[in-house]
Order: sequence, then C-alpha cells, then structure tokens
Amino acid sequence: MLLSDSLSVVATKLVRRLRESGFVAYFAGGCVRDALLGKEPKDVDIATDADPEQVQSLFPRTVAVGAKFGVLRVLEGSFEFEVATFRSDGVYLDGRRPVSVTFSSPEEDAKRRDFTINGMFYDPVEDKVVDFIGGKLDLEHRLIRAIGDPTARFSEDHLRLLRAVRFAASLDFEIEKATWQAVRQNACQIKTVSAERVRDELVKIFADPHRLRGLDLLDQSGLLQVVLPEVTDLHGCEQPPQFHPEGDVYIHTRLMLSLLSPDASPELAFSVLLHDIGKPVTKSYDAVDQRIRFNGHDQVGATMAKEVMTRLRFSNEQIATVVEAIRNHMVFKDAPSMRPAKLRRFMGRENFPLELELHRVDCLGSHGDLQTYELLTEKQKAFENEPIIPPPLVTGHDLIALGLAPGPRFGEILEAVQTAQLEGEVRDRSEALRLLRRLEPAIPADKIEELSREV
Ligand code: ATP
Ligand code: MG
Repeated sequence: MLLSDSLSVVATKLVRRLRESGFVAYFAGGCVRDALLGKEPKDVDIATDADPEQVQSLFPRTVAVGAKFGVLRVLEGSFEFEVATFRSDGVYLDGRRPVSVTFSSPEEDAKRRDFTINGMFYDPVEDKVVDFIGGKLDLEHRLIRAIGDPTARFSEDHLRLLRAVRFAASLDFEIEKATWQAVRQNACQIKTVSAERVRDELVKIFADPHRLRGLDLLDQSGLLQVVLPEVTDLHGCEQPPQFHPEGDVYIHTRLMLSLLSPDASPELAFSVLLHDIGKPVTKSYDAVDQRIRFNGHDQVGATMAKEVMTRLRFSNEQIATVVEAIRNHMVFKDAPSMRPAKLRRFMGRENFPLELELHRVDCLGSHGDLQTYELLTEKQKAFENEPIIPPPLVTGHDLIALGLAPGPRFGEILEAVQTAQLEGEVRDRSEALRLLRRLEPAIPADKIEELSREV
C-alpha cells in the first residue's frame, strides 16, 4: 500500500505496540480507501479492540476527544492519530449521532461506517486489507454504496446524504442505484442537519476540482433545493439571447463553474454560484428595447448572498469577500471608461484578483468577449513594478502643519490630492503642495514654501 513514509511508519509503530500487548489493531476507513486509490491519505485513523483506558496506558501522550465513543487522539512524533475502539452504534434519535455506543468486533465496526469504500481496514503488519463489506470491489468498480440498507443508514445520520454526493464527486465515482434512490428519497432530511456541518460539506464539494459534478449531483438528488434553493431558482430563468447565447441563468452559472481553475478557492466558487441569484426576482421586460432586463440584480444578489452565507454560518470574512464580489460584478463593464484614479482604486482592492477571475468566467460563460478582461490584465502587468496605489505625497500631518483644523474636509482634500496623483496630474511633493494651495486658498503661501523646502 502506498503511504507517506514517515506517517505510515509511525502509524505502523502504533499498531505494532497495540499488537505486542495482545490487541487487534488496524488502519481504518478513509486512509485505507485513499491508499488503495494510490492517493496520499491526509491522516491515518487506527481501530483496535483495546478500550480507551488500555490505549491511554500504552501511549504517554493522548487527548480524550470522544472517549464516550471510544475515540482518543494519540500524539506520536510530530503526528496525531485517532485511535478508536471497535464499536457498534446504538439507536439514532436525532438524525445526527447514536445515543450510545457499545464496544464490539471489527466486523461490527465496519458495518456502522457509511459507505463500503470507507469501511475497510488495513493490517500494516501483515500488509493485508481486511474487508467485511465488499469495499474493495466497489472501489474497483468506482461505486459509492451505503453499507447495509441505504434508507436506514441515511435516516440514522442525514449528513451521509451530502457525504454520498461529496465522495461521488471528488472521487468521480457513480452512486450505486439503491443508494442513489435513497439519497433522492431522503434529500429533504438534510434540513435537520446543523448549518455548520452542511457548510463544511458544501465547501469541500465546491473547493474540489470536481465541483461541477458536485453541483449536478446536488441538483439531481434534490439536496440543492433544500440547502441552496436560491440556486435551484435559477433554473428556467430566461436571459436575453444576444448576451447569453448559452441559455438560462442556471446553465450560465453551471458553465462558469466548469471554467474555474481546479484550485479555485471556496470564496471564488461561491461567488460564481451566487453571483446571479438576484436575477429571478429582478427580472422584467423592457418593451422599448424588447429585451429582458435584470435591473439591480447585482445589489439584490449581494444582499441575498449575505443571507445565504449567514444562514450557512460562513465566517464574516468569507461573507464579506463573496458579497463584495457580487456587488461589483457589473462594475467591470465600466472599467474601460474609468478615469485612471477610479480604475487604480478599483484594481487596488484586496478582492480584485478574485473579482477579475469571476469576471473572466462570467464572460466566457456567456458572450465570450474578453476585451475588458484583457485590458485589465494588461493594466495589472503595467502596474506590476509599482504600487497601484502609490504612497501619499501629502498627509494629514502636513495639513495640520499648514494650520488647518482636522475635520471632514481633511479627507476630501487628501482624496483630491490622491486623485490628482493617480491621474498623473501631480508627480511630486512640491506639485502636491501647490495643489493644496489651490484647494484651500486660505493656506498662506509662505507656509507652503516652508514645507516644500523640508525633505
Ligand atoms: P476525508 O477525511 O478524506 O473527508 P474520510 O473517509 O476520512 O474522508 P472522515 O469524515 O474523516 O472521512 O471519517 C473517517 C471515517 O469514519 C470514514 O471513512 C467512515 O468510515 C467513518 N465515518 C465518518 N463519518 C461518518 C458518518 N457520518 N457515518 C458513518 N461513518 C462515518
Ligand atoms: Mg478523514
């Protein structure tokens, strides 16, 4: 099996130590799946018949993360491992977690796991896969299959509905027929899962290079309708064909998602997903121009996106990034006619690179005209060796030295000087000081002279 040397070596050491004390111990779950797929697992989980107390007595550095469920974190070298006692889950009452667990056999522990490909063990001492549930075959056939009765398994823990879609998308596997049917039948249950857990799954789906398949599976399963109804509302929202030959807003959004680079951030992916959600509610028909319009959809969409992301408990920073991108996505069409100062300020914002990428896929996902995009990337190159917003030539300290009292006028004056600087109208400090005199004739000329002489 392919495992990163040191991680696997240390994990094997842990397994050996448990074995030497008479316990059964295996690598378990996701790491076995990933290793069999030739992928580097992020972490190695270990399953054993030792109970948490026995595990604790064997390893000096442990943290009790879920001792009630038989899970300990063992620290070894620079690594951390979850070591869990083989268990079976008791009844699920809340669609989230079992009321109780009982320690049991490896086979029972495999059966409580979600999908067959996630339910295998690996014995690193014997170099053997221990497979009670047909995981290896499903992995070969690239299938996501619930372990046991799919409907029962999804009603125990509704998050598994989203996990099925996530694994199918990220691994590019099919969902086995009965499992898929159960996902579709139980999709509405996802509404009972906490917003944080739903968000984490959505972020994993949309941060993954296979995000397009993720969207399709979410949509086809009915899960999208529950977790992001604002996106399913884009279906059938017609657009003017001269600007959007591709079709309705959903088709446009989907196309844009397919044009993102594989490593696009979750913020960028969510900006794409939500950028036009203001369209269905702002749609109107312009009888004069005989075309569909979506007046103000950018602003309405930004407000809606804020609601969506707040509902899904995204961080304030992530919400601000996406909302700003959506609010600005129509400003790009004005960029070619912007005065240099306005353009520099627009491009100098921290959010600009993400917004430019949103603009690129917005164009490519519709009319295909990249003129503005190209103009902006050329400007970016031209600005590469200088700050887009250069350091100020005069500051508030200067205004005070010139005898002005701090107040709202201060900001206006400094902005006017910065504008002139960005427009190339003033090039150095003495020109900036002269402009100050024109802006505030009350400033005595000799004071300006005095400041100009200072270095
Ligand atoms: P990754 O960490 O790459 O997302 P993973 O398979 O390791 O994938 P985890 O969420 O880390 O997923 O869970 C570890 C293992 O625990 C899984 O492989 C699976 O066997 C089991 N598991 C996790 N979540 C559930 C669940 N909701 N229901 C049943 N079993 C689960
Ligand atoms: Mg994992």
